[in-house]
Amino acid sequence: MLVTYPAAPLRPSPISPSVDFEKNGVQHGLLRLPYSRDDSAWGSVMIPICVVKNGDGPVALLSGGNHGDEYEGPLALYDLANSLKPEDVTGTVIIVPAMNFPAFQNGSRTSPVDYGNMNRIFPGRPDGTVTEKIADYFQRYLLPMADIVLDFHSGGRTLDFIPFCAAHVLEDKDVEARAMAAVEAFSAPYSARMLEIDAIGMYDTAAEELGKVFLTTELGGGGTARAATVRIARIGVANVLKHAGILKGEPVRQPTRWLDMPSVDCFSFAEDGGLCETMVDLGERVEKGDVIARVHGYNRTGRPPQELRAKLSGVLAARHYPGLIKPGDCASVVAVLTD
Ligand code: ZN
Repeated sequence: MLVTYPAAPLRPSPISPSVDFEKNGVQHGLLRLPYSRDDSAWGSVMIPICVVKNGDGPVALLSGGNHGDEYEGPLALYDLANSLKPEDVTGTVIIVPAMNFPAFQNGSRTSPVDYGNMNRIFPGRPDGTVTEKIADYFQRYLLPMADIVLDFHSGGRTLDFIPFCAAHVLEDKDVEARAMAAVEAFSAPYSARMLEIDAIGMYDTAAEELGKVFLTTELGGGGTARAATVRIARIGVANVLKHAGILKGEPVRQPTRWLDMPSVDCFSFAEDGGLCETMVDLGERVEKGDVIARVHGYNRTGRPPQELRAKLSGVLAARHYPGLIKPGDCASVVAVLTD
């Protein structure tokens, strides 16, 4: 006989915020997470947070640095935190520009403390690792306050993307429609309706399961940010806040092309390691059967490269970024244009 025990109630988060989420005005504060270690016996991880509140109204939760080597979000959000004035706002804007702060300080996708990948670890744990504790704080304290959630991503050090804002196909069609309208307002050059293949543990899923309007982005990559993609992030976040009625005025709309990534056929993975040669550049048209990348072995001459072919027609939406590739790495992503 299977014996089940009732789950113990979760303990409170160990994170203490130095901001008061009920207070009007601008507050630049820290989320302090105790982290005892060799070089600091009673040390802490101090995660920057900014709250701008002006009375009742919608609440936006904005985050960058979910992965620590993606920079458009942090650049746009530190700037927004420095410039937003309470009189510009109706409601509340909560800004966490570098969500996985240890990873961000380290310039790496995952945390150097516990190897935690923030976007695979939700709902987190209050008694878990550092990354799990941060996730738990978002899950149980920050997300419940929010009406609309925007989490910035880019390709990081190993991928490069065409710039797009995205929301997920959801069972709740009302929330899905509101999310897609917000994606349209963001006005990136591309917009995507995403069906997540492995949604377990994602911040996206945590927000959506709480019924929140959730948006994400992929705005470039390569472990840096470009002038054009940072501009897209800055205009996009202001547009989303205008769309939500938090900032005055209408979104500055730009033409956008809608993309779909309907299945695993979008992705090509290297089977051998070697020199990676992309055969098309980001945004270029691809026909089913085209060679989109070649992997050249470099241990000796005289061997043909491995050819990776597009399994469907569309545009090249992402590519492996470093010059060398390992077996199993994602080499290319093809997305289907739907407009
Ligand atoms: Zn990311």
